[in-house]
Amino acid sequence: MKVLKFGGTSVGSAQRMREVAELIHAPHLQRRIVVLSAMSGTTNALVEIAGLLFAGNVAAATANVETLRQRYHAVAQELLPEPAVADEAIEHLDQRFQSILDLTSAPLSADGERVILAQGELLSTLLVHRYVTRILGRPAVLLPALEFMRLDVDDEPDAAYIREHLASTLAPYAAEQLFITQGYICRSAQGHIDNLKRGGSDYSASLIGAAANAEEIQIWTDIDGLHNNDPRIVKGTYPIRELSFDEAAELAYFGAKILHPSSVLPARQHGIPVRLLNTMQPEAPGTLISAKTGAEAIKAVAAKDGITAINVKSSRMLLAHGFLRTIFEVFERYRTSIDMITTSEVAVSLTIDDATRLPLILDELQRFASVEVDENQTIICLVGNLEQDAHGAANQAFAALKDIAVRMISYGGSPNNISILVHTNDKTRALQALNAGLFQR
Ligand code: ASP
Ligand code: MG
Repeated sequence: MKVLKFGGTSVGSAQRMREVAELIHAPHLQRRIVVLSAMSGTTNALVEIAGLLFAGNVAAATANVETLRQRYHAVAQELLPEPAVADEAIEHLDQRFQSILDLTSAPLSADGERVILAQGELLSTLLVHRYVTRILGRPAVLLPALEFMRLDVDDEPDAAYIREHLASTLAPYAAEQLFITQGYICRSAQGHIDNLKRGGSDYSASLIGAAANAEEIQIWTDIDGLHNNDPRIVKGTYPIRELSFDEAAELAYFGAKILHPSSVLPARQHGIPVRLLNTMQPEAPGTLISAKTGAEAIKAVAAKDGITAINVKSSRMLLAHGFLRTIFEVFERYRTSIDMITTSEVAVSLTIDDATRLPLILDELQRFASVEVDENQTIICLVGNLEQDAHGAANQAFAALKDIAVRMISYGGSPNNISILVHTNDKTRALQALNAGLFQR
């Protein structure tokens, strides 16, 4: 079994859906589960509809549902040129829109919002399934993800449940080769419709791959793999051919937008290679993420914006035991995770990317220490296999940054990562300097 996941832009129009169908329907391909995102823009539109309903603006929400419904009718008409096929699909699409409209008659609950958010993937999979089976005339099974994707009581994916229920959902189809299912959506431990959070379709693909003991998980997007640097900022970037699971996890977490950060974990746990491929250029080799890694010490640079640095200073208490714990407990109480940390004799600096509870955190920290806050920071993350750094690539990186004010450095936390904190104003210069210093060949 292989798992192939296609993101929102890859199914973003009737034309793109046909291209996806081309990649998945050929009979010579082995057994495969295709995981689809919602068409690009749809989940955002659904978030907006839910927001309008929360605000009590039923008229605007209903109008937005109608706009979205018209868009899907147009896609169905274009994708399914046989009237009987289009009509049948539109009837099913309209049931999805009706399930949203049914939620407009009473104040929206959190459960209701999740039902709304779940519709995008149900719409896209229906359309691609009808195109493959009714227009191309190829056998394919539409697998309902809500029957096997499930969270446990801690809102984490329930791997045992998913494995068991995916197997029983597949059991009646022993001879079938092509399955299509929804990314992102799942049920909660209580059985209510839920989701794996924004961008979660990659995570779905990895969980399904793990549950099916897949040989490979393919993540298809519209870029030819993970690049060594941000192509929007730096010229001449190139796709990294091979990355280890750990390197890929660091890159996904620290900025490379093409892969959901949690999605590497199930694949790593089961040793299933993940291949990042490009729908616009299907023959390109892309990036292979596996237990192995390529030879270069530093393989990629990524940047994560919107970081807040907090400096906690207390000459009296820092080296006393329990001081760090006291600090960490404050962050834990406000459920705010820390990305980088460095310490000195008199102070601790740490960074967070979610500053929503910062005022409360500062309030508590100020009871026992003096605190300074720097906003608009960017973490520049160098990823690679630094155990192999025989040629001083780390030194080369620091040399490249000689003209840039570095606020924090975190090195040695893992052999795969050096994190450098700079002001966001210096990000472009830092990325370009690192590119010149590390990757010019
Ligand atoms: N449709 C969902 C989103 O836009 C999930 C995904 O595309 O991965 O966040
Ligand atoms: Mg995505």
